[in-house]
Amino acid sequence: GSGLMAGKRGVIMGVANNRSIAWGIAKACREQGAEIALTWQGDALKKRVEPLAVELDAFLAGDCDVTNLESIDAVFANLEAKWGKIDFVVHAIAFSDKDELTGRYIDTTRDNFARTMDISVYSFTAVAARAEKIMNDGGSLLTLTYYGAEKVMPHYNVMGVAKAALEASVRYLAVDMGGRGIRVNAISAGPIKTLAASGIGDFRYILKWNEYHSPLKRNVTTDEVGQSGMYLLSDLSTGVSGEVHHVDCGYHTVGMKAVDAPDI
Ligand code: NAD
Repeated sequence: GSGLMAGKRGVIMGVANNRSIAWGIAKACREQGAEIALTWQGDALKKRVEPLAVELDAFLAGDCDVTNLESIDAVFANLEAKWGKIDFVVHAIAFSDKDELTGRYIDTTRDNFARTMDISVYSFTAVAARAEKIMNDGGSLLTLTYYGAEKVMPHYNVMGVAKAALEASVRYLAVDMGGRGIRVNAISAGPIKTLAASGIGDFRYILKWNEYHSPLKRNVTTDEVGQSGMYLLSDLSTGVSGEVHHVDCGYHTVGMKAVDAPDI
């Protein structure tokens, strides 16, 4: 085959529907000739992921709830049985109780703190450990983060703390895996209206704010995050590791509200 991802095989975790960031990345990789495997979380999402897998001729690698480590083991055993080796992994998974994605960070409960960190941070490390065993030299891992890791964003709360830890784990994993040319990076995506984002308080306001104040005067699309994700998974980026790459229409570069922005 031809394309920037020709001859590469990988698993994309976190497709919930056709608005998922993971789906944008899956489409971009397939367009460039990659062979894709998808996982899903539970029977309800399986019904949505199955027809999407058909569209990309993707391998269904298994039901995976990352709080259940055996289900991660099973996915990687299925991938090894199907392909032997893999070349890339996408982790587009996060969760926090939506009752705590509003109001004050200070009110975070211990249970939700631990659960948010487990699903949104530890799972990437758990996946990396399993992926390493069946990954070709020169492979690539990618996770998704948000600017709320760096700066305080309204309502993002414990998820911001989790994303900061996720970004730190990208750097540690990059060192752990770098000896075999395996790269580990994150994309810090601008706000996009997805299922997960709908749990965040006042998300429409956040979208408008980013539209008015980012250099490009608009929000990013899942397809744009998909293309940038494909770049980080491809051999175009063999010199890039431990990086948090902002795909946010430039929003993170701006230090002050635009003078000419309309009111929201
Ligand atoms: P989404 O709802 O489409 O995807 C979130 C995925 O996480 C779903 O597929 C869900 O099944 C999965 N998930 C949650 N808990 C899980 C568990 N216990 N086990 C396995 N899977 C689980 O939303 P999205 O916005 O595409 O989110 C993907 C990633 O992008 C997340 O890490 C999110 O934080 C990040 N992100 C999103 C935005 C945004 O504005 N949408 C911005 C920056 C970063």
